[in-house]
Amino acid sequence: MFINEISKVLKYIFPKLIWKKNTELEIEKTIYLTFDDGPTPEITHYVLDLLTKYNAKATFFCIGNNLKAHHELAQQILENGHKIGNHTMNHVNSWHVSANEFFNEYQLCENEINNLGTRSVGFRPPYGRINRFIYRKLINYTPIYMWSFISGDYNRNNNPNVIIKSAKKNIHPGSILIFHDSKKAFPVLSNILEPILEYGTQNNFQFKTL
Ligand SMILES: [Zn+2]
Repeated sequence: MFINEISKVLKYIFPKLIWKKNTELEIEKTIYLTFDDGPTPEITHYVLDLLTKYNAKATFFCIGNNLKAHHELAQQILENGHKIGNHTMNHVNSWHVSANEFFNEYQLCENEINNLGTRSVGFRPPYGRINRFIYRKLINYTPIYMWSFISGDYNRNNNPNVIIKSAKKNIHPGSILIFHDSKKAFPVLSNILEPILEYGTQNNFQFKTL
């Protein structure tokens, strides 16, 4: 509920943020899984294997430093047909740094993505936090992807069954779902990802990259 209220305000102040991807044809049952904060050895491998099993494509909003440290894993993401987006070099909180510092963080991560021989599909602000200076600057360079469903996998106190139930209610054509391929999220992620992929598949949704 709280997150919904925040997103209503953000939608008003920052009209170009993307919360849902309109597929033009609402009959096209496409949903967009996104994984933030990786790549992380083992965890990202686990995610990649599951995505392959369900013939699903996804978007990974990676931290630049993780791309630098795990270059081969990043290449594996791309080889498997997924896309990579920018999540800053060090996962900085835009409320705690200047717009210039933040833009530098964006640019450093962008360089890491370009070093992989690919282009970023877009930007996701760490913690979903943005301010008007950063918005005005970044919106000229990149689409900014928010979400329509946040899994809450990063909080171990969240009950996987409750998340799965809520995900099922919130999967519609164009939905953008957030997960995390991080160590912190794995205890919950490992209990929710396959049931959600299973549900989407059984209901004839296609999982595509942004
Ligand atoms: Zn993040």
